[in-house]
Amino acid sequence: MSDQPAGTLRTMRYPVMRWLALTLILGMPLAGVIGIAWMSDAVSTRAAWAIVLPILGIIALFSAWHTLAAWRVLRSTDEIAGMGQRTTGSDWDALTMIGELGVTMERLRQTLLDEKGQVALQTTTADAILNALPDPVLLLDGRRTIARANFAARKFFGNDIVGNDLTVALRHPTVLDAADSVLSGETGMAAADLNLPVPDGRSFSVRVVALPAAREDTAAVLALHDLTSLRKAEKMRADFVANASHELRTPLASLVGFIETLLGPAKDDEPARIRFLGIMRDQAGRMSRLIQDLLSLSQIEMREHDQPSEVLALAPLLRDVAAALEPQAKAKQMQIRLDLNDAVAPVAGARDELMQVFQNLIDNAIKYGRAETQVEVRLGERDGGWIEVGIRDHGDGIPREHLPRLTERFYRVDSARSRDLGGTGLGLAIVKHIINRHRGRLVIESEMGKGSEFMVRMPGADRSR
Ligand code: ADP
Repeated sequence: MSDQPAGTLRTMRYPVMRWLALTLILGMPLAGVIGIAWMSDAVSTRAAWAIVLPILGIIALFSAWHTLAAWRVLRSTDEIAGMGQRTTGSDWDALTMIGELGVTMERLRQTLLDEKGQVALQTTTADAILNALPDPVLLLDGRRTIARANFAARKFFGNDIVGNDLTVALRHPTVLDAADSVLSGETGMAAADLNLPVPDGRSFSVRVVALPAAREDTAAVLALHDLTSLRKAEKMRADFVANASHELRTPLASLVGFIETLLGPAKDDEPARIRFLGIMRDQAGRMSRLIQDLLSLSQIEMREHDQPSEVLALAPLLRDVAAALEPQAKAKQMQIRLDLNDAVAPVAGARDELMQVFQNLIDNAIKYGRAETQVEVRLGERDGGWIEVGIRDHGDGIPREHLPRLTERFYRVDSARSRDLGGTGLGLAIVKHIINRHRGRLVIESEMGKGSEFMVRMPGADRSR
């Protein structure tokens, strides 16, 4: 076995010996014939040397040229075989050039097989990586045909997208321009924005990048990055700031107006002063409620993902909330009727937050229920270990089309009525976030002219743990 380190050239041992051997083998017949002729005195010694020496010289040159050529072949195959030095033949193999060439070719074969295996592995790995990407990725050939599509792309554009022109997947001119400019070699990378119309209403940023050493079957990669939720979040944030400022501006403007009136025209008007101060107190109260609700909302949003662990019974908590709201109900000659099953399982929850939920819901039932009616608060158990609290009012009801949007911040069915009743438009948004934190659900049912029921469903403490 060879003791040479892997990767070094092991090209042709004994080159000089081989050259001499070849010269000798090729020159022997001639030397023999001339020798016999000399021995039989057919040629003189002088003539024999005169014939043998030049011919031996030519044979030596020919052997040198031949040995050099063989050395070059061995060197090249050795280089191509590179690191794959697994077969290193015996010394018998090394004796002849053909033997050594055979060994080197065997190494070359093994190297190529290894390489083929590596390429197959790399292709499978690249496919797995592409398929693991959440965004759609397409590989384009030089003629803009989709050569490959990852899992997300096939899900998005359809399974039969491969083999079609890019226009079958995306018709947007800026995207096609970006692809064309990369495929034509004009640029190595191009980007475009893609906004899909409703009903999808999705936005993507598209990037087309030329592949290094592009081949005809995969010349560029086109990747889509879904910006829909980012854009939605940006819009929600902007809307929220605009709405919050608007909600604060109105009472603030009213306060400033009354202060100026009191400092000016109504300075000495006692009855007007008393009336205006009352309005100012209401407006300041509205601002303070709004700020309170905004703070609650941001605090709840921050901890929405950790589930509370305190175990509490809902019946006593509902009794406390109802008692606290009794004066408000009385003011409208309403009654809060409790139908609470004390035997229902406790829930895992945060007491203050759950009180806020039921306070907001019962408060709404009083606000939007008709005077002299009842607000019914029910606690029971449903199939599957769910605990349900239902709060029913007898009011005008909520039109069906508003139901899915009621828990959005500042969403109101009737803004003027909500403001007149002192509402901030944030109560149900707070309710929804708290219920999410408790892994529960809010279900709203309403019938026009009859009233609404807001149902809070939560898993029992055992189940949520
Ligand atoms: P608000 O402070 O305006 O009451 P909420 O977030 O609590 O804000 O409620 C959002 C909107 O949902 C209200 O403006 C109102 O239009 C409607 N709403 C809530 N509860 C009821 C209910 N019990 N009956 C009728 N409409 C309701």
